Amino acid sequence: MSSKVFFTNFRTTPENNQLDKLENLVRTAGIESIDFKDKYVAIKLHVGELGNMAYLRPNYAATLVRVIRSLGGKPFLTDANTLYSGHRSNAPDHMDTANCNGYSPMSTGAQFIVADGLKGLDFEAIPLNGQFCKAPKISSAIAQADILVSLSHVKGHEMTGFGGALKNIGMGSGSVAGKKEMHSNCNPIVDDDSCRGCGCCIAACSHGAISAGPDGKAVIDAGKCVGCGQCIATCQFGAARADGNERLDIMNCKIAEYAKATINGKPNFHVCIITDVSPECDCWNYNDVPIVPNIGMAASSDPVALDCACADLVNAAPVMDTSNSLTDSHSHEECADSHDHWTLLHPDTDWRSGVEHAEKIGLGTRDYELISI
Ligand code: SF4
Ligand code: SF4
Repeated sequence: MSSKVFFTNFRTTPENNQLDKLENLVRTAGIESIDFKDKYVAIKLHVGELGNMAYLRPNYAATLVRVIRSLGGKPFLTDANTLYSGHRSNAPDHMDTANCNGYSPMSTGAQFIVADGLKGLDFEAIPLNGQFCKAPKISSAIAQADILVSLSHVKGHEMTGFGGALKNIGMGSGSVAGKKEMHSNCNPIVDDDSCRGCGCCIAACSHGAISAGPDGKAVIDAGKCVGCGQCIATCQFGAARADGNERLDIMNCKIAEYAKATINGKPNFHVCIITDVSPECDCWNYNDVPIVPNIGMAASSDPVALDCACADLVNAAPVMDTSNSLTDSHSHEECADSHDHWTLLHPDTDWRSGVEHAEKIGLGTRDYELISI
């Protein structure tokens, strides 16, 4: 049986602006069917790394907060600490980043809480007995919330291929130890022939796992590497890369299992915004130009169906007629013919492995009905 995914484009009028349309979207998609009365509602989102400009504006979160308050809920905005260097790897830095990027209570109407505490150590092990993860380590504030609402930015991702609701919920709700578990199969390698010895990956690795060999080329110490993937995204020469697709597929499956543990039977609702579709994650301190024009907003009570619908909407869109990550390596004709921008963008990973596993474990269905409003 298919799941309904509701969609609205970005066309607006003075009487019906983008935020009006978002409110109408989530109400039409069924958010009001959840009993929010006096419930703690975790709105799982990503406040963006400092320097990134593709992350979602706080106005979207403010609209969700207003809707949830109108339904009697107690919403809070939340994310967990990161595994790599940057400005979100501990609670003080993460909260400073949230404020700098506009996620203040004044702009959103809700507090931003770092879900896994000061150093990323606060989690609850949720019994799942999954194929890959037996008891996912879900950040405490999210695990303890009564209701989960996800607000996700649709974009590419260097390790998962596609980033949407499952990535936001699964990887994003894992505590630092949980993120290590999800990344643990993904240790990268360095291709000596391609390595220029620039040292960027050495500076980017917050786990001290990379050093320069006698010839100046990068050498990874597998014993120290946690598989965070920062070196892969940092390397501009394609020299640092994943050690085989199968490992990244396992990470996608683990993310699906973490997403299931995050939801853990609680009422849940999901929103994806398809705007500024950057080739890589909002965790980076930069964002390359979008690969397709802005498309719209989608909502569903099924995160698997929602991800599939968003991925398909992007794949159906023409690649931007500007230089971007896709057109750097592929002609416009190739992009138009492939119908899979995500795989062209990140050929080392198969984004479908995540939604397939999510469906297999009962998180939702890939079969969706797109309802435009
Ligand atoms: S960033 Fe890439 S090219 Fe530079 S040292 Fe690391 S692997 Fe080599
Ligand atoms: S070597 Fe790469 S993947 Fe491993 S910890 Fe360092 S940056 Fe992360």
